[in-house]
Formats: sequence, C-alpha cells, structure tokens
Amino acid sequence: MSEVDLLPVIKVLPTQLANQIAAGEVIERPASVIKELIENALDADATRLDIELVNGGMESIVVTDDGHGVQANELPLAISRHATSKIESVEDLLNLHSLGFRGEALASICSVSQWEMISRPHDQSQAVKISHLMPDDTIAINHAPGTRVSIKQLFCNTPARRKFLRAERTEYRHCDDVIKRMALARFDVAFYVKHNGRQSLRLPAVTEDIGRSRRVAQICGDAYVKQSVVIDYPHTGMRLWGWLSQADYSRQSTDLQYFYINGRIIRDRVINHAVRLAYQPVLPAGRHAAYVLHLEIDPAMVDVNVHPTKYEVRFRESRIIHDFISRCIRDAIHAVSSGDGSPSAKNISHDVYAASSLDKGNSYQTKVSEQHILYPSTAGTRFGNVLTVVHERYALTQQSLSQGQQRFYLLDLQTAVAIWVSSLLLDGLNGSGKKEIKSLPLLIPQRLVLATNELAVFKQHQKLFGSLGFDLSLTEDKNLLIRKIPSLLQCYDSKKLIQQLLIAVIDTTAPEKELSTALFELLPDYKKLDLNVIFSAIELSINKSADEYTSCWRELTPTDLNDWLGG
Ligand code: ADP
Ligand code: MG
Repeated sequence: MSEVDLLPVIKVLPTQLANQIAAGEVIERPASVIKELIENALDADATRLDIELVNGGMESIVVTDDGHGVQANELPLAISRHATSKIESVEDLLNLHSLGFRGEALASICSVSQWEMISRPHDQSQAVKISHLMPDDTIAINHAPGTRVSIKQLFCNTPARRKFLRAERTEYRHCDDVIKRMALARFDVAFYVKHNGRQSLRLPAVTEDIGRSRRVAQICGDAYVKQSVVIDYPHTGMRLWGWLSQADYSRQSTDLQYFYINGRIIRDRVINHAVRLAYQPVLPAGRHAAYVLHLEIDPAMVDVNVHPTKYEVRFRESRIIHDFISRCIRDAIHAVSSGDGSPSAKNISHDVYAASSLDKGNSYQTKVSEQHILYPSTAGTRFGNVLTVVHERYALTQQSLSQGQQRFYLLDLQTAVAIWVSSLLLDGLNGSGKKEIKSLPLLIPQRLVLATNELAVFKQHQKLFGSLGFDLSLTEDKNLLIRKIPSLLQCYDSKKLIQQLLIAVIDTTAPEKELSTALFELLPDYKKLDLNVIFSAIELSINKSADEYTSCWRELTPTDLNDWLGG
C-alpha cells in the first residue's frame, strides 16, 4: 500500500447529511421545531397561529398561519439550506427586522422528519403543496391563504437523536413553554394550541393594556399579575415596558423571567446582570425576581447573529443599555415599595385615559385594575408625575393637589431641553455652574487614539473640557483616556462625541462658541435621555430662569383633556 492510500479522502457532504448536521445545532426536540415555525409565521406577518401537537410534538407538529405565504415557484427554495427572503447582504444583519435570517431552519427540520408544506399567498386562488415524498414537485391544492407546515416523526432518520427525547409529558411541557414565551412576545397575534386533539391554550389577539395583562395572567398566573408593577419608560432611542414583580414578591427559581428585545426572546448576561443589580437591595439572597420585559431599541444597536439559536445577542453600547434597564427597574420598584414615586399614577391603567372612560365621569383615577402602572418617577417636580409622552415630544403630567384634586400639564420636552442645555453651557463656560454639571463615570474608561492635530487641540483646551464635566487625561503613549462624561451626554457614544467636539474646536479663536454650537447640534438626541434626567435638570434650571420656560408648558383643564383625548 502506498502512503497516498492511507490519507483520508476529503469529500463534500451530501446535502441531506449537511442539513442533518446543521439540525444538530438548532433542533434539539419538538419544542425547537415549534420555535422556528412560529418565528417564520410571525415573520410572515401572521395575525393568527393554530398549533396542533400529537404526543408532545414527537409524532406530529402542525403550524397553520394566515401570513403572507410563499409563491408557488419559491416553495422548494423555502426548504433548501441558505435560502431566505429576509436578508440580502451582510449589512442587513445590522438592521434586522425579522426573527429569522439564517435560511436554515426549514432545511434542517425537513432533513430529520417527514414533512409537508402548503402555502398560498393572499393574491392567489390556489395553494401549493410540497412534501418529503416528492421534494421537487409542487402540487396545487385547496387551502386558505397563509402557510401550513406539518412535521411528523421528528428524528425518524436519526435514531440516535430520537433516543434523547423524553416522555410525552416532558416534551409537551417544553413545547408549551416555547409557545407561551412566543405568545408573550406578540400580544397582537392570536395563538390557539391543541394537544392530542384537545384545546390546551387559547390566546386571542389583544391590543389594549388590560388584554395584555390578561394574557400575562393566563401564562404567568393571576397572582403574579395582581402584585406586579406595569412599567413603560418610553424614549425614542429605547423603550422598556412590561411587568415587574414587586419587592416583596420573589421566586425560588428564575422560571418566570422573560426578556425580549424587539420581540425576540433572549437570554443575555448583560441584561441579567442589570435586572439582578436593580433587585439586589430588595430581594433576599437566593430568591429571584419575576418579570416580563420588552426592550425596544434601534436594531442597529444589537447583533443577533451570535449563536444559531439566536437566544444570545451582542450590544453595541452595552453599558448604556445595562444602565438604562437597571435604572428603570430600580426606580419602579423603589417608587412602589416606598409609596412615594408616583402615588397617583400607581393605580391607573393606560385605559383610564381612553376617551370612553373620560366620558363616563370626572374621575381620572378610576381604578381599572389592581395593577400598578408607573412612568419614570418624576414626582416632586412642579409638574407631578409623567403619565405619558405624546408624539415623542410632549410630556403629559399629573399633579396631585390636596383633597384629591388633580392638575394636568403638557410640557414641551424639546424646548425645555434646549433652554436647559444653553443655560448649562453658559454656566459651565463661565465657570459659575460647575456644581450642576453632573458627571457620569464610565464603567470602563475608554481609550481614544488621537491624530496629531487633535492632540494639539486637546492640550490647548483641556481646561474647557474639564469645565463641561468631562474627565479626560493623556496616557503615556499619548492616547486620550475618557473617565467621565457629563451625564447630560450619557446617551452618546463617548469616543465619537469627544472626537466630534475636538474637531469643532480645531483652528478656532472662539472655542467656547464652537463647542456650544457643536453640542447644540447633538440636541435632537434628547429623546434618548432618561426622562428623570430631563425633569431633574429642568427643575434645577427653571428655578434660575423661570421666564425662559414660560413657553414650555401649559396647564390642561379637564375640558382640554377631554377634547384632546376624545378628538
Ligand atoms: P429564515 O426564517 O431564516 O429565512 P427558514 O428556513 O426558517 O429560514 O425559512 C426559509 C424561508 O421560507 C423564509 O425566508 C421565508 O421566505 C419562507 N417561509 C418559511 N415559513 C414561512 C411562513 N410560515 N410563511 C411565509 N413564508 C415562510
Ligand atoms: Mg426561520
């Protein structure tokens, strides 16, 4: 035998085998199949999902949706590997609006099962079917618009995997978990589930807060919802909303912790840490909080292409997200447990502000449910608590007076922030208002490599930056070390920010003016600021220059409110 004969031979794997290997990564059990099929239906804009399981999903999983369907000639593509309608380039990954993007799920699932897929786009009069029996041939059949995927005998051709499946009850529990998790992601979609022919879950689509709370109660239990705090911290850059357990509620395990980013369930260390940190002061050791939280952020801020199951993510600005979440939760649980914060907002549900309930009478405080609802606690300001933010610009606030009387204000946040920034800058630059410029230490100091001209400019204006609340120093190798930034600017990427400001003052004889102009240009991003920050800042500067603020707010009478909400 020659030596060449002994060498192993390299061969391209047959498609079926390659798909089966890929299936190993993502398809662990029936529940993983359900997750992928539900994701596909949601990506197809379905409003109703019917899920039928037999024998814990091991024998059969059928998911029927009313989504946009697949064109007949593309149906065979849907089940082939690396075929997707969701992305076209690597850039699309950075601006992902769909749950899927890998184009692998159906190919993987189909390689380890007996499958059938029927689809009909809404503008077609007939549906088309393909199946494992003749994967390349499509057959026209009658079916409602939408898609129906049927997966039978999972792992029938990979006996080793099938052996890992557990008892029917266990597999069913996993399926049920996944469905419930997905149902908490999309309240606007109906989920109907049958197991062995029996209806096991009925979740109609809901759009109102009350309906959403009802769905949470159906999934997490009445007791949980009754004691929970409903939060909604709206910003343009980010929004955190959902249900939080109160300080005196805790669980033995982390079983009731649901966190979604843009509708995608995730498990993430940064997020877990942020939540744990917020609850730490109030929870006994070894106990766990319970929550259903949705974070909505610009998809460009988060990379989901980190792991095949897409449960893990990577943030572009993890510190900002971490701090935002932690602060929102801390504020909410503190406000409720200490009874301060937003006492009047506590028992109000969003619905109270619907026109219908206003019509019924004069009580804005109607107790719609036992639930607590909290916006950022801005109690103690002259405007009371923030009830909601309208058009991302106007804060509607409610102030409680004595004898149960209420006052309502509409505050123009954008103008208020503009006045505040300009007064802050003036003070900072005059050296008179330093105490009010709060700095925020960065968790991890940032290092910035400077160009020669930037370095020169920095040396020249180092003091100026200091007076604005930056803590910047030069390292031995002439890099810039950023330790603190003004809290006012915490929503910006600190490195980019400093570079932008340095560039603004290059070659100028009026650095103060250029700096304040450059800062002013960043203003539109006020929407990313924490409402608490905005309000406490307004409160501070309003004391000094009340006149300038007169145009920023107006008191609303109950009639105004009625007209406004009803009209
Ligand atoms: P991905 O979801 O990552 O694109 P899949 O293998 O899950 O990959 O699906 C492949 C393609 O099949 C999708 O991109 C989509 O175009 C189509 N598809 C799958 N399921 C559905 C469905 N329920 N409704 C409409 N189209 C679907
Ligand atoms: Mg998919």
